[in-house]
Amino acid sequence: MSAHSPFKYSFFKDRVVDIEDAKISIMSKVVQYGMGWFGGVRGYISDDSSHVNIFRLDDHIERFLNSAKILGVNVKYTHDEIKKIFLDLTKENSPSTDTYYRPFAYADNTDISPNLLQNPEFAFALYMLPLGDYLPTDQGNKVCVSSWRRVSDNAIPSRAKISGAYVNSALAKQEAQKNGFSEAIELDEAGQVTEGTAMNLFIVRNGVLITPASSSDILEGITRRTVFEIAKNENIPVSERAVDRTELYVADEAFFCGTGAQVAWISHIDHRRVGSGTAGPITKIIKETFFDVVRGKSDKYKHWLTKVKI
Ligand code: PMP
Repeated sequence: MSAHSPFKYSFFKDRVVDIEDAKISIMSKVVQYGMGWFGGVRGYISDDSSHVNIFRLDDHIERFLNSAKILGVNVKYTHDEIKKIFLDLTKENSPSTDTYYRPFAYADNTDISPNLLQNPEFAFALYMLPLGDYLPTDQGNKVCVSSWRRVSDNAIPSRAKISGAYVNSALAKQEAQKNGFSEAIELDEAGQVTEGTAMNLFIVRNGVLITPASSSDILEGITRRTVFEIAKNENIPVSERAVDRTELYVADEAFFCGTGAQVAWISHIDHRRVGSGTAGPITKIIKETFFDVVRGKSDKYKHWLTKVKI
């Protein structure tokens, strides 16, 4: 992912500004304590480059605003206002590639203590980056089970995308990549499977799609919900339940899903081959349908796309 956005504009301090001017103080609490949360939304460019299809924008905004409830703070914009900010910024930046949107709510004041009471209202910003594949989707990913444990919902709520919690993701990703894997699977404190560092996980056993329950210290992914709906329409049974580490080793198929990861299949876990080591039949159905959906090639799921003319 690019660290520097080639898109000129961002939304910052209540207006559209040059991304270079969207700056906050080194003393702010989001910098010092990670007191912020964010979203990650994809916009897919149409084949004729005439518009961007933003995937499940309303669902992303709803989850984004739920984080305010979890932290007990407010964001000054409503759902509809945030949606309008997305659409306006898309037009301002007029992307020519697939785009990643990052809405961000953050504590911008500089009081010394990590106390949310001093921040009843979080500031809001939105910026955009070009984004292709975050993980390979055409070849299998070799992944490991991390020695780090996923941050629990009662420590830093995993149901929200809280900035500071991503230090945990970063540690797991660092360890995985140093050891030659593309991604890590984190367990919870009880040793059961949660998810990847920024993506949910599915395995297939005996024709059933299995994924850790939403009570398993995971982020409730919007792509995960998308997989449920595709599976339902394809008559593939889904089970949301606790998953043991060793189930990963005997799974017939496995894949990650997320806004960044999209649908990225897994060929090896901890050096053990998953199934035949190729993308399995259920993974293929989910993956192909997913890419048809986000590219606007499936009428059945068109309601998930917000079309923005650019
Ligand atoms: N888990 C974590 C920790 C994530 O950061 C993400 C990415 N937002 C996901 C799962 C996948 O969620 P979504 O499908 O909504 O992008």
